[in-house]
This record gives sequence, structure tokens and C-alpha cells, in this order.
Amino acid sequence: MHIRKNMIQNNEGFKCKNCRRVVEPHPGGSCRNHCPHCLYSLHVDLDVPGDRANDCQGLMAPIGMENNKKKGIRILHMCKTCGFQIYNRTAPDDDWELVCCLSRVPQG
Ligand SMILES: [Zn+2]
Ligand SMILES: [Zn+2]
Repeated sequence: MHIRKNMIQNNEGFKCKNCRRVVEPHPGGSCRNHCPHCLYSLHVDLDVPGDRANDCQGLMAPIGMENNKKKGIRILHMCKTCGFQIYNRTAPDDDWELVCCLSRVPQG
């Protein structure tokens, strides 16, 4: 079986540190990297999604979204602790009303 080296599977449920709701594992079995209820994430990955190698552990706020022709709708997260910004793919059970309320990031 082919294993993608740049994606470490990490599909555990967790309790959101922002809204305190319990987040179920990703319905598609993919890597869950943000809370579907409030869209907040945690700054835990370093180089590779799912590596959990970053000790920042800051709360990452959703600050924007983009509709990328190739990659689909992605949420731009910014770490409140260190200011790091990263795009994350949306999950099927994300709160789409919240996603749509985010301001659109201009395509570069
Ligand atoms: Zn949450
Ligand atoms: Zn950070």
C-alpha cells in the first residue's frame, strides 16, 4: 500500500480549546485539523500536517477563507500566540455558515 509521506494520519476526536465542544473524528477518515463548530484550530503541526511536532500549542483563529480552483475552499488560520498563518482544508461537517462569514482572501 502506498503511504503518502507528507501526510501523517491523525484522525482522533478531541475537545476544542476554544468552544469546549467535543469534536468527533473526521467523517471521511481524513486529518482533522480544526473544530467544525467554531473553526478554531491549534498550532501543533510543524512542517507536515499531522506531525504534531510544534510545541507552540497556541489557539489558531480563522481569519479568512479562499476558494481555490485547484485546492477547493480553504480556511486561513492565524496563531494567536506566534502569528503563524496557514491554510487548512475544510471538512464536510464544518459549520458552513461560519465559513461563508469569513472574509475572502484575495487570490494572489
Ligand atoms: Zn470549537
Ligand atoms: Zn503558534
